[in-house]
Amino acid sequence: MIPVLIVLNAGSSSLKFQVFDMLDNAEPRLVWKGLYEGLGGAAHFVIRHARGADLDEMSWNSGEEFGHEEALAHLISWLREHQEGRKLAAIGHRVVHGGQSFSRPVLVDDSIVQALEALVPLAPLHQPHNLEPIRIMRRRLPGMPQVACFDTAFHQTQSDIASLFALPREMREGGVRRYGFHGLSYDYIASVLADYDPRLAEGRVIVAHLGNGASLCALKDGVSVATTMGFSALDGLPMGTRCGAIDAGVVFYMLREMKLTPEEAESVLYKKSGLLGVSGISNDMRMLRSKATTNADAKRAIDLFAYRITREIGSLVAALGGIDGLVFTAGIGENDVATRAEVMAGLTWAGLTMDESANRIGGPRISTGSGPSAWVIPTDEELVIARQTRSVLESTQAKLAS
Ligand code: ADP
Repeated sequence: MIPVLIVLNAGSSSLKFQVFDMLDNAEPRLVWKGLYEGLGGAAHFVIRHARGADLDEMSWNSGEEFGHEEALAHLISWLREHQEGRKLAAIGHRVVHGGQSFSRPVLVDDSIVQALEALVPLAPLHQPHNLEPIRIMRRRLPGMPQVACFDTAFHQTQSDIASLFALPREMREGGVRRYGFHGLSYDYIASVLADYDPRLAEGRVIVAHLGNGASLCALKDGVSVATTMGFSALDGLPMGTRCGAIDAGVVFYMLREMKLTPEEAESVLYKKSGLLGVSGISNDMRMLRSKATTNADAKRAIDLFAYRITREIGSLVAALGGIDGLVFTAGIGENDVATRAEVMAGLTWAGLTMDESANRIGGPRISTGSGPSAWVIPTDEELVIARQTRSVLESTQAKLAS
């Protein structure tokens, strides 16, 4: 029997999953990947082979009350029916917030569940959705090892100063500090830098994770030294629907003068801002690009996005004391030729020179010359969760055996 891992990434109405074979002395190998969408409404399930061909799909009507619980029950029985020669060995979960104490992935038990629940106030829009599948799987598959893998953990290497807000010290002691997110993505990129150029693995590299959520991370010797996201996933770059860094005074103005409730202000900042808010059209870069030549609002949103990325890269170059490499990743970073060109055009002062034809075909190297290099590297957060889950599993088994 080949032991397999399930990797789960749960959102409010979606559940993404991947299934990996764990072969001896080899990277976890992707077998299937899939998605449940529209949970709680008209749900839809699709599963594909690692090679990309559709394998199965199913839909449910909105009256059928098909939520996360039903999706996980369906996934377990689908796998039982199709897993010829395989046996489920563990489940790895993406958990957005590990707070101050979780600097590495952890095997879940009762006390860990409690500790992760206590972190809900730090990420109220994401953490509860991440924890729900953990609770459901503990009930449905008691004894099955489950591992929580954190978006924040990769940034725990940052210095005290890099993670400090200039707020009264008791606030820091109460957990109000910069945490940083997208750590699973940065972990993956750091792990493959040497395959692209060994100098990058030991150098000063800025990674631009540009998807619906967006942030930058400064890596020195493959370790996070600074990032643009802070206490919450709102800080830093403008995103699909999130505002990025704004003056905190705006929030008081919204509450006091505009009479928004805290929930309304939160909804403006998380769900109605960013590319969507500025354009008034869409949070989707593809849509905005298709309109940008004729629609000034679409162009403005894109221009602001590129301007803010360039400015924040400048700030991270200062934090690193220079730059040896720049990496673009995630949906926009991997696919949007124009965003890469616009950002690079603002970085000639840092010695970065665009190779336009390489950029058009997606690199991997998209710069010319002997100065700092620029790259397009596809990220793989699920593989990092699979690697981390396996390593926690192996060290637990080793402890039990000794
Ligand atoms: P998430 O944070 O939800 O995982 P993704 O990493 O999938 O997001 O990124 C989604 C973004 O990537 C969207 O703005 C989408 O328009 C953009 N994107 C995806 N493919 C392309 C493409 N071919 N050209 C331009 N933008 C793209």
